Amino acid sequence: MSELDLSPDVVVIGGGIAGALAAVRARERGARVVLVHRPGGGTVASSGAIDCGDELCGLVPGPAVDPLDRGGRWRRGVDLLAARHPQHPFARVGDKGRERVREALALLKQLAQHGGLDLAERDDGHNHVLATQLGTVKRAALVQKCQLLDVAALEPDATVAVVDPLDLAGFGARAVSHVLGWIAGMSARKLTVTTLGVERALPASAVHDDALAMARALDDDATRAAFCEALRNALRRAARPAHHLLLPPILGVEKHAAVLNDVERAAGRPVKELLALPPSAPGVRLARALLRGAKERGVVVVEARAHATSAHGTRVATVAIEGQQLKAELTPRSVVLATGRFYGGGIVRDQVAREPLFGLPVVTEGHAVDDAFIGLFTGDSPEAEHAIFRAGVAVDASLTPVDRRGKPLFENLLCAGTVVEGWDPARDGAAGGVAALTGLLAGEAAALVAGCNRSGPVARAV
Ligand SMILES: Cc1cc2nc3c(=O)[nH]c(=O)nc-3n(C[C@H](O)[C@H](O)[C@H](O)COP(=O)(O)OP(=O)(O)OC[C@H]3O[C@@H](n4cnc5c(N)ncnc54)[C@H](O)[C@@H]3O)c2cc1C
Repeated sequence: MSELDLSPDVVVIGGGIAGALAAVRARERGARVVLVHRPGGGTVASSGAIDCGDELCGLVPGPAVDPLDRGGRWRRGVDLLAARHPQHPFARVGDKGRERVREALALLKQLAQHGGLDLAERDDGHNHVLATQLGTVKRAALVQKCQLLDVAALEPDATVAVVDPLDLAGFGARAVSHVLGWIAGMSARKLTVTTLGVERALPASAVHDDALAMARALDDDATRAAFCEALRNALRRAARPAHHLLLPPILGVEKHAAVLNDVERAAGRPVKELLALPPSAPGVRLARALLRGAKERGVVVVEARAHATSAHGTRVATVAIEGQQLKAELTPRSVVLATGRFYGGGIVRDQVAREPLFGLPVVTEGHAVDDAFIGLFTGDSPEAEHAIFRAGVAVDASLTPVDRRGKPLFENLLCAGTVVEGWDPARDGAAGGVAALTGLLAGEAAALVAGCNRSGPVARAV
């Protein structure tokens, strides 16, 4: 690690969707970029598909809303969110910022592809409709190829079997197929959902506790061959095998392309994954691909924790980092804070809600959370909206953190992703898209603040 540049133009803290995109965009603008990340956070835990906008989000499926309807274009969902929620980052960045959401998703796709992961997008700008590990369906703009069974695009009278690998503990294909069948039953589209049990392919001692563990096991060629054989046998025994198979999210981590290829060849039909719950193999794939892609594009990626910062007046001066074999103090010209929210540790609430690295105030809907009674920020019922889930760092239109009066706190600090307040990643149907857009914009702004432009570093302000 001796070659680590201690005075880069830009330091990005956090390596989820927002941090990866910020780092790459700053690099593209000519900045020398160091990205510091510790494992964990929302990206790695996510389903692995990317939501950006969903005009049907929050509507209860039933006679009025067909559960397999894909709704309008996801871009329309972005504008609707901005119109309905003035605090939302999609509103906060203004019309011009929001216009760039497509560019942000394109960069995300490219970056993932450079890191070895293909993300699929519909040509017509609409969302995919995908089944989850709970048997529910959700819409997403980008989806990993091995997740791409769009249940709204299946041929009439298609049959889908949810596969139950007996090597995996804690997954109930029956319950999943029951819920999915029930949901599909409310749709005008006809879809028959069954299950397919797959006998043990591995020794009894090797039962996997979760889908991520089994996905890792299927990276191994011999284990995969045994599973493929068990799947083939199950299909041979089935009276009328389904047209499509849906597996729990186990299609490999490192060798996901080979795993998908081998399993589909063994099955002789399309085999895809259900969208994952944590611990999520598709989330791990996505996070790894983005960091790999960032490295490919010249970002220096360091696995370490940023644990302290210092400032001179209104400028961030230093970021201290500590990794397994590394301790350093970086003196960047600008910093992007992309540390996530409660899940990533970018916002913590022990006695007081706080942003731990720069001491930025944590707010929601214009109120400081501080040590206030949490009940002040929750809705009346579990399914109601909860302001606490929108808590984060307040920013202005350029993603600079601001105090309670809207005054910028640091001139060379930008924020991106879930650390930013005003939106609920679990409810808005736009989580990955917000992280991507704010990442792109913050990376660009950070490069500019550091004195870099598109064609490379320019003369630096003294
Ligand atoms: C269970 C779950 C399911 C989800 N499903 C979906 C989905 O289906 N579709 C979708 O679009 N979105 C989904 N999301 C939301 C989505 O994952 C997030 O909106 C997005 O990934 C957030 O990206 P981020 O970069 O802002 O934050 P994160 O991905 O949380 O990244 C922050 C990173 O910063 C690191 N970090 C924090 N502090 C430090 C420090 N001091 N030093 C170094 N590193 C630090 C963290 O470890 C983490 O790696 C889901 C989220 C969860 C939790």
